[in-house]
Parts: sequence; C-alpha cells; structure tokens
Amino acid sequence: MRERYFDNAATTPLDPRVFEAMGPWLVEHYGNAHSIHEPGRKAMAAIENARERIAMLLGCEPEEIFFTSGATESNNWVLRAFADFASACAVSPFEHSSVREPAMALGFGTIANQGCELDVGSSPNLRLTSVMLVNNEMGAIFDPSALRSGARKVHSDITQAAGKIPVAVDGLDFASLSAHKFYGPKGIGALYARDGDAPKPLLLGGEQEHGKRAGTLNVPAIIGMGAAAQIACDEQQQDYEKAGTLRQIVLQELSDIPDHRINGGPDSSPFILSISFLGLEGETIAIELDRLGFAVSAGAACSSRSTEPSHVLTALGLDDAWLRGTIRISFGKFNTDVACQDLARSVRECVERIRGIR
Ligand code: PMP
Repeated sequence: MRERYFDNAATTPLDPRVFEAMGPWLVEHYGNAHSIHEPGRKAMAAIENARERIAMLLGCEPEEIFFTSGATESNNWVLRAFADFASACAVSPFEHSSVREPAMALGFGTIANQGCELDVGSSPNLRLTSVMLVNNEMGAIFDPSALRSGARKVHSDITQAAGKIPVAVDGLDFASLSAHKFYGPKGIGALYARDGDAPKPLLLGGEQEHGKRAGTLNVPAIIGMGAAAQIACDEQQQDYEKAGTLRQIVLQELSDIPDHRINGGPDSSPFILSISFLGLEGETIAIELDRLGFAVSAGAACSSRSTEPSHVLTALGLDDAWLRGTIRISFGKFNTDVACQDLARSVRECVERIRGIR
C-alpha cells in the first residue's frame, strides 16, 4: 500500500528504522527525563542526542530547538505570544489553518499577494510576519526570510519543508515543524527559536524545556523524531531527486488532458503536485482513486471535511470552476515509478469517465 499512498503531505508512513529506534524507549527505558535518578538521566541524555540531530537537520544549535506536540502547537505558541501587538502582525494568505485560525482570532492582518508574490511594502512597522516555506496544498515555495527587516520577527511554518528540502533557519526567528511529515511519529514536533529566545510560554505548569514548554517530555516520540532527522540528514538529497522524478512521471502522463492546470508555479516542491480539472469535483476523483487503491487528497487533510473552497487556491486567484476540481498528489520515498504510472493512468481514466469521454 505504501507504494500507492500519495498523500505524504498529510502524513508519511513511519520509517521502519525510526520504529526500531523508538521501541526500547516505549518498553525498557521508561524514566521521566526530568527525574534525577539513573533512568531519568538516561532518558535526558537520549533527548539531548535527538535535539542535536534535529538541530543538525535545520543547521542551528541544539539550544534553539524546543520540543512541542507538533507544528500546530508551535504555530499557536508563536502567534499567541504576539497577541498584544496583533495590529502589527501579519500572516500570508496561504497559511495552514494552524496559523490562519489563531491569526484571525487574534486580529492579525493578512499580507497582500499577487499570485504567489507577497508584498509587505506598505507596512514597514510590522513586529511579526508569518509565512510558510512550502505550501501544503499546492507546493509553492516562499522566501519568508526576505521579509526580515529592522526589529521585525519572522516566523515560518516549515512543516512541509523540514527533512524534505534544504532549510536554512538562519534567516528566521521562529520555525515550526512536525516529525510525521518526514517519516517520524505523529504528535511530536518542535519550535526553532533563534538564539534559544523562545516566545513566552503557551503552556504553564512545569519547568521542562527551560521553563518554556511545560509537560512531561514524550521520550519515545522525541527519540523517533531524532532518528527521522538523522535519516533525513543522510538521505534527503536522494529522496528529493526521487520525488522530482516521480512528479515528472505523473506530469508527463497527464500533460495532454484538456482543461487541466498545475497550481503552485514553477518554483514548487517536488513532493507536491496540485492539479485542477475544469468543471470537475476533486473529491469525486479522490474517492474514485481510493476505490482503485490509491490515496490522494482533494485538499489539505485538515480541511478536507469542509465544504468551503480552499482559501489557498482562492488566494491564488482560481475561480470556483477550477478550484473545486483540484486534487493533491503528494510523493514520498516509498512510492515507485510503476505506482506513479498506474496512478496517472487511473487519474486520466477517472477524468475522462466523469467528463463522459469514456
Ligand atoms: N502546517 C502545515 C503546513 C501542515 O501541512 C500541517 C499538517 N497538515 C501542520 C502545520 C500541522 O501539523 P500537525 O497536525 O502535525 O500539528
């Protein structure tokens, strides 16, 4: 099934090597990493080792990494810390709901856009901008660090980039990520904070993570995230090249279907292919592909139960007849050339059948 699983932007399968690394920490080594006894110290040493591996992946110092339950928490943590300056904070119109919803609730502004081009030109006094590195619906790549200026802090949701494409956090003040997007376990993630200067805590009630994030450390999950980060450090380049090849196979096979468009522009992540078929329903195509044993998405998994059209594709300027007919194919290291050919053939057949050509 992993070969025909094309929803790797929603989550990736656990790498078996990560599972193996986590095993002993679920069963044999049960110490609380903040206990002073031997089992506790052992857990803390392993946590620090995982932190180093994650820092290596992001090209930063271990002290700049804070463990959280995932990107949703990391995003909320940063944005909520700026609640008192809401009118001087702005997020891009393409953000994941875990940035978009807190930003709306807090009254942040939205950065103006022309297609995928962002423009904060008219608001030089911003205190915080939040712009994702890779968009989860269409794969477009942004340059959040270009918005750094004066005392402004720059946050980026790097969830779809970390472990997949090279990430340089040195142009950022804060960055959010989740392990399960790069073959690690779900429910664990991190916040990068430049110079270890984390925002004021979101969660109170414990001295963990230098008093910045309360709660018993999830030792097995953190070990898993560290193992996944190490594997990504070693294999990211080859996985990136493979994704590019797989994406090209699908693109080629679909290229002569009438009335389709590729979203995200030329500067897109090779791991994501967003494709719209004029006048069709993406959901119908996704359901039909599911019946044939392929997992794709008709949008972001977190909003796929919503009947609202995608805010990302709307911000891109797509009108209704196009955006409703969108599917997202997202690639991972367990997909194969043959599965991509089969998928593309099935997509073509679905589209032709629904359009009444077959
Ligand atoms: N940001 C982006 C860009 C995402 O794709 C996701 C997961 N869909 C998240 C944040 C949230 O991640 P998690 O659910 O692991 O907190």
